Amino acid sequence: MTASVPSETRNAEPGTRNDYPGPYGLSEEQEIFKRTVHEFAEREIVPVAHELDEKVEYPRATVAKMGQLGLLGLLVPEEYGGAGASTLDYVLGMEEISWADASHSVVMSVNNSLVCEPILRFGAEEQKRRFLVPLAGGEYVGAYCLSEPTSGSDASNMSTQARRDGDGWVLNGTKSWITNGGEAGVYLVYALSNPNVPKSRGITAFLVPANTPGLRAGKKEKKLGIRASSTTQIFFEDCRVPADAVIGTVDEGFKIAMATLDGGRIGIGAQALGIAQRALDESVRYSKEREAFGHPIADFQGLQWRMADMATRVECARLLVYRAARMKDAGQSFSKEASMAKLFASETAMFCAHAAVQMFGGYGYVREYAVEKLFRDAKITEIYEGTSEVQRLVISRHVLR
Ligand SMILES: Cc1cc2nc3c(=O)[nH]c(=O)nc-3n(C[C@H](O)[C@H](O)[C@H](O)COP(=O)(O)OP(=O)(O)OC[C@H]3O[C@@H](n4cnc5c(N)ncnc54)[C@H](O)[C@@H]3O)c2cc1C
Repeated sequence: MTASVPSETRNAEPGTRNDYPGPYGLSEEQEIFKRTVHEFAEREIVPVAHELDEKVEYPRATVAKMGQLGLLGLLVPEEYGGAGASTLDYVLGMEEISWADASHSVVMSVNNSLVCEPILRFGAEEQKRRFLVPLAGGEYVGAYCLSEPTSGSDASNMSTQARRDGDGWVLNGTKSWITNGGEAGVYLVYALSNPNVPKSRGITAFLVPANTPGLRAGKKEKKLGIRASSTTQIFFEDCRVPADAVIGTVDEGFKIAMATLDGGRIGIGAQALGIAQRALDESVRYSKEREAFGHPIADFQGLQWRMADMATRVECARLLVYRAARMKDAGQSFSKEASMAKLFASETAMFCAHAAVQMFGGYGYVREYAVEKLFRDAKITEIYEGTSEVQRLVISRHVLR
């Protein structure tokens, strides 16, 4: 689990295949880790994913097993109960869990990227000890509360207020679309704390335990995909929190929100990559089994070319996602690369899921086969943690700089 980022890919002498570090330059530990997570996902998640999706049921039992395996605190150092792994390791894990089921992987991504990481980067020592240990160990999961009914892409245009009250703060407002809503043990909440400055310069981030009076989860949203994950509104009604609930600096929370999303986008890129790979795998398998006109449909050039396009895009997405993760691990700026990875991988997930449904014909359109769910799950990767339009905005700003 503590696999390090491999050094530069070496050029292998012809005929010395064993020296070749593989197409992605992963270390042996990373290859083993990826395979281990894949086997876990195939054994534990694949058998329950379809039913949980049908029942719209949060995967409590399997998420707990993910916690035992260390998948909920991959980025958290061992001293706080985590695996002390790299972003690249995290991405490898996300890819494999997403291959099995995106509802499970969204829980993993929010917990690792959107909650543990900001606590680690911006939290006080006491906050790290108090929250990271249970979050990394799977005792509970976290949630990230930025979006509101009238502010999503334009995230700083929020309305939730944080009013000073003696030593502490009182929160009032409504957050929307909160993943892990109603399931989380702690909520990372962004609220306007200073009415006298432009909104983006007057937002503070707070860590609010779920049992705080005045915090209430709404009903679960009825979603197109990732139906086993919980998405709710979170209401703050005179919710009083102490001064030490503030994470980072008062009025500088929006920087935390944006920095957190940069890292999160690599995780969603990996989620999309896992969905795309599964769509390709299902298509390849089915095309060899299904016959039409006296041939396996894999014999038809039209379908061969479609699978070639899918495979090529999956490889491009993987290289972009791994590259962004490596840049983050190396301490380089990676905002543009994270957006490129998420943009391309999410559009690849949609492309591959769409192609897979078509390849399955009528069977692609019914719930018996995995591709129908992949088609529904893929769409969210183009929407959350910044829509594809927002990713293009970020990328074009860098390009035009
Ligand atoms: C299942 C699910 C889970 C989610 N989980 C979370 C969570 O855990 N925490 C959280 O805080 N949020 C979460 N979200 C919210 C998500 O991040 C937002 O839905 C997303 O950022 C888009 O915001 P919006 O829905 O308000 O759309 P809007 O911002 O209203 O956008 C509407 C459309 O306009 C486009 N658009 C907006 N601005 C521009 C522009 N400048 N240029 C071009 N096009 C533009 C958008 O791309 C989109 O197509 C979740 C959403 C869903 C559906």
